[in-house]
Amino acid sequence: MNMDVIVSLCKRRGFIFQSSEIYGGTGSCWDYGPLGVELKNNIKRLWWRDNVQLRPDMVGLDASILMHPSVWKASGHVDHFTDPMVDCRECKRRFRADQLDEGPWLHFCPATKGNKFTVPAGEPCKHCGARRTLCPECGKGELTAPRQFNLMFKTFMGPVEEDAAMTYLRPETAQGIFVNFDNVLQSMRPKLPFGIAQIGKAFRNEITPGNFIFRSREFEQMEIEYFVNPRDRVEGRAADEYWHDRWIDVCEAWFVRYGMAGENLKRHEHAADELAHYAKRTVDIMYRFPMGWSELMGIANRTDFDLKQHAQTSGKSLTYFDEERKEHIVPFVIEPSAGVDRALLAFLLDAYREEEVRGDKRVVLRLHRELAPVKIAVLPLLKKRPEIVATAGELRATLAREWTTVYDDTAGIGRLYRRQDEVGTPYCITVDVQTVGDPDKGEAGDRRVTIRERDSMEQIRVPIPELPALFRELLGEGTWAAVTARYPRANA
Ligand code: ATP
Repeated sequence: MNMDVIVSLCKRRGFIFQSSEIYGGTGSCWDYGPLGVELKNNIKRLWWRDNVQLRPDMVGLDASILMHPSVWKASGHVDHFTDPMVDCRECKRRFRADQLDEGPWLHFCPATKGNKFTVPAGEPCKHCGARRTLCPECGKGELTAPRQFNLMFKTFMGPVEEDAAMTYLRPETAQGIFVNFDNVLQSMRPKLPFGIAQIGKAFRNEITPGNFIFRSREFEQMEIEYFVNPRDRVEGRAADEYWHDRWIDVCEAWFVRYGMAGENLKRHEHAADELAHYAKRTVDIMYRFPMGWSELMGIANRTDFDLKQHAQTSGKSLTYFDEERKEHIVPFVIEPSAGVDRALLAFLLDAYREEEVRGDKRVVLRLHRELAPVKIAVLPLLKKRPEIVATAGELRATLAREWTTVYDDTAGIGRLYRRQDEVGTPYCITVDVQTVGDPDKGEAGDRRVTIRERDSMEQIRVPIPELPALFRELLGEGTWAAVTARYPRANA
């Protein structure tokens, strides 16, 4: 799968645009267009439904982006949220020292009279055997020694730009949950184990943003802090270790449930030297992105680090009263943390297909029906017939009350189907002459429309009054096979 294909589809069909494009663009920020915002909202809504609404042990939160600067001192972000940065002395480009060998590198090979080669990531030159030491982009410049660069964006709260007013744009949503731990405890009275979920923007001044929306400077996270009593045992294991494994399984299964192929997902266990300063164990769920296996989300056991740090810095007690043991404890926390944008990119890549249909190429996004940005497209077969257009317009209005439904009459029916396939619309409805009849000839219509299913391209003929119930079935738990057994096929 080529990233350029998805980038071009996203721009052409209104999923994702470069931010501030008319001013030359900001390299590291992206805007979600009309279809992108629907897809993104669907991802967030499904994640919230499955992880909050359906679970008795979860509640939600929406904390502010700007927080007290002490939050970031206590959490360790001021001192530790850094990446090692190097500069090329020649071309002045900047790189993350730990990612220098993750991409191909430019090499002027001495064994071939200085010929220029692009050598694959991490490999030596096959002519001279040299490994990369110079700048991977220009192939000529020496690199400076690494310096630690803090990724938090600084800003000022209030009208005076002075150090006392300085704070940060949050680099993760998690801290908003930790500092509200006691508020949730007192207001909702949950019993351990329980979790608090949050979806929201995060900001990181990444040294090398890139790979489209995979790494940007403004992005969205879906995070859970799941609090457990570390003294409890579940199935013979410490509760935090048990729940860590449970959440890894739940998170991976969620991506598969909404259509990601299992073979495109794998787990990466962090080695001791890779673990963040707060983590006892971290497992990443990796996706096979076009640039290689890369992190889709991480699930960390953050122990009691954050609650203890905030209790110490704020002077407020952040404990839970264990009724059984009659003691105050500081819970351990398991943190499943996913990027909305990375999930969206992976869902798009996984759904993209180029197929051949009767000698023609068809591009189709085989998105899960609950993810599809548009659920139903209503298409008039002839836009010159006012009765057809009026019926199609009425149908769109009725169905739009329950599902994202669009009307399109800007091309012939073949083109219209292809356009909907390309954006993943699971169902198209066609209104034709048979539906409305011909008043000039005194012919009544049959008030039936054709429904076409995206993946099989099969078509059935359905009476208009039955449409809402039928789509409740098709866009709910029903299957196309069950529905086609009840209605006559229409000719493709
Ligand atoms: P990476 O190693 O890729 O920089 P990370 O380990 O720093 O990621 P976390 O701090 O674990 O990332 O953040 C949790 C999730 O937030 C990531 O798995 C990813 O989905 C998302 N995320 C993090 N940074 C970015 C970014 N710059 N752009 C888009 N999504 C991001």
